[in-house]
Amino acid sequence: MKFLPALCCLIISSAFSQTTLEQDIIDIEPKVIEWRHHFHQNPELSNREFKTAEKIAEHLKSLGFEVQTGVAKTGVVGILKGDLPGKVVALRADIDALPVTERNDLPFKSEVRDTFLGTETGVMHACGHDTHISILMGVAEVFSKHKDKIKGTIKFIFQPAEEGPPPGEEGGASLMVKEGVLENPKVDAIFGLHINSATPVGTIKYKPGGMMAAVERFVVNVKGKQTHGSQPWGGVDPIYISAKIIDGYQSIISRESNLLVEPAVITVGKITSGVRFNIIPESAELIGTVRTLDADMRTKIITRMTEMTETIAKAYGGEATIEFQENTLVTYNDPDLTSQMLPSLEKAAGKDNVKLMKAVTGGEDFSYFQEVVPGLYFYLGGMTPGNTEAFPHHTPDFKIDDNGLILGVKAMTYLALDYLNN
Ligand SMILES: [Zn+2]
Ligand SMILES: [Zn+2]
Repeated sequence: MKFLPALCCLIISSAFSQTTLEQDIIDIEPKVIEWRHHFHQNPELSNREFKTAEKIAEHLKSLGFEVQTGVAKTGVVGILKGDLPGKVVALRADIDALPVTERNDLPFKSEVRDTFLGTETGVMHACGHDTHISILMGVAEVFSKHKDKIKGTIKFIFQPAEEGPPPGEEGGASLMVKEGVLENPKVDAIFGLHINSATPVGTIKYKPGGMMAAVERFVVNVKGKQTHGSQPWGGVDPIYISAKIIDGYQSIISRESNLLVEPAVITVGKITSGVRFNIIPESAELIGTVRTLDADMRTKIITRMTEMTETIAKAYGGEATIEFQENTLVTYNDPDLTSQMLPSLEKAAGKDNVKLMKAVTGGEDFSYFQEVVPGLYFYLGGMTPGNTEAFPHHTPDFKIDDNGLILGVKAMTYLALDYLNN
């Protein structure tokens, strides 16, 4: 009998604190939207996110977090230790904007201009990373009031240069990993999201396994022998060899890749060779990209492209080399972690609003975190309900509805809390 009142209090207090967390998420929405407007109006290019980082660090410090700045140049990491011991979970937001001139008529429209690769340009959060920063700042503030519920540690990773650092510079997720962001304390799992302009507000989309592509840029140099256009037998034609090489690449996709496992793409996007109609030139250059969604397929395709480049050129009397530049790895959602965390996403959005999606052949450098620890990455709806069309990311008319942000806060909060407490 003696236990009864105590048990009763315990139930009341746990119900009460649950409501408080829910209420705190609802209450943070206006702040998250205000932050979003601020960052939208003050965008900064990759590896130049100085003021953005300052504002993030200031916020995390005001919450009493342990804060590291200057991680991978302009990155900020906040660490929140819960009152109870346990695992370590990381939540990631990317923070950079793009050299795009905004065409939207918004009260918080970006008028910022900067120089990118020597050219003056407008700067815009045309991928929606402004929403990612604000959502994660909101999650941080909610958790700062609920340390008592956290079994373990939450690392808040604000990552620069997701769109890629300027040529000749290092940056982004891979540099953060290199600088040890997943160590001290060692991260057990990581979660990340991307707002999506073509997904309705209130919806979450995800895919177990390969969700976004590994992206490589490649450059092929073909060497022939120059001759008169009327006498091809006097030389070696690098343009003809290039055509054979391109043909060979497409056979790797259509004849050698098991497209039932995942799709794959090879595109040659640029060919440079020759000066006029009656000269067979000495060399040709091909530049292109490979997109894969499976790590083994990626390795095989790269190996076969290298073999084909060299042997096809040789077969026609020339020489060729290929160089690959890795931009991202496969954004791979660990299947076990995905099924473990699905209820948290469903709790946040409602079961009917969490949808399976098809893979995307675009890339995302969140993949570098997932290479080291299991991770889950998902899309968050940012399209105004009722709309059926949306301007794509990276365009001057790209638009995100503020009403989509609150679900991001909810989803990230539940993912972190449920991961640590289960
Ligand atoms: Zn982007
Ligand atoms: Zn993006």
